[in-house]
Amino acid sequence: MDKVCKQASSAFSRCRVDIRPPFFDFVGIDRADPSIARRLASITISEVKQPFERQPPRKVGELEQMVINEQQFIACPELVTNLLYDGFMMQRVFYSMLPEDERITEHLHIIFTSKLACTFSEDDWRYHARALVCGTPSIISTSGIVEAPAKPREFYLYRAQAHYLSSQREARRDRDTDEDKDKFAGQYIDYHDKRITDAAIGYVYQATMFFITFGQPFCNLQNCRLYNSHWQSDLIRTQVLNPVICKRHKKLIDDFNKSAI
Ligand SMILES: [Zn+2]
Repeated sequence: MDKVCKQASSAFSRCRVDIRPPFFDFVGIDRADPSIARRLASITISEVKQPFERQPPRKVGELEQMVINEQQFIACPELVTNLLYDGFMMQRVFYSMLPEDERITEHLHIIFTSKLACTFSEDDWRYHARALVCGTPSIISTSGIVEAPAKPREFYLYRAQAHYLSSQREARRDRDTDEDKDKFAGQYIDYHDKRITDAAIGYVYQATMFFITFGQPFCNLQNCRLYNSHWQSDLIRTQVLNPVICKRHKKLIDDFNKSAI
């Protein structure tokens, strides 16, 4: 987090960057209080091909179990789970917890979470994992950094083939296995990968640019840090191997830093 803070302070010199305590500590949530766990459990997605308002109701007892699980996640926020959360609803829940005097655009809150944020797209009528949800607060999902940009095409072909072959012998595998991952190691950012920090810095740039440009956080140039990476190879190129800002965005940031407060 120190590296993220240092780079954000250096890039956006007009801003004072504070690292706050873990969010639930900062906003004074009583971790034993089940109400926040209930709110978070209620924004999970079970049907990725339906928007949030059409999610099927949870079965009797299922929500209660999810609340118990969620309380464990709150107690141990670095736990990675396979649950999907509606990113905009997550933003709404976190917004409601922000101190009232900080719910203004002079404060740019960026919350880092291991929860996998997803947003529903009406283009293909399904949820997609997101590394970044811009707004107040902005959310950077470390699971999203791993899951949102697509892995190499060959990875999916290899996995589909492996699943087909394994289905001949055993129950179908639904998750990436170590075997799948080892074969393509290094070609994408994985959980507990040090490169998550570099990628997170890029998303901090984008979250900030969203406010500087009134809603345009991305760049069309494939070598700019603000490029919207749909592939892991794009993410690694723009944030790890050659993390640079294009001339146009450099000027926008310079002008922002020079502008009156
Ligand atoms: Zn750019």
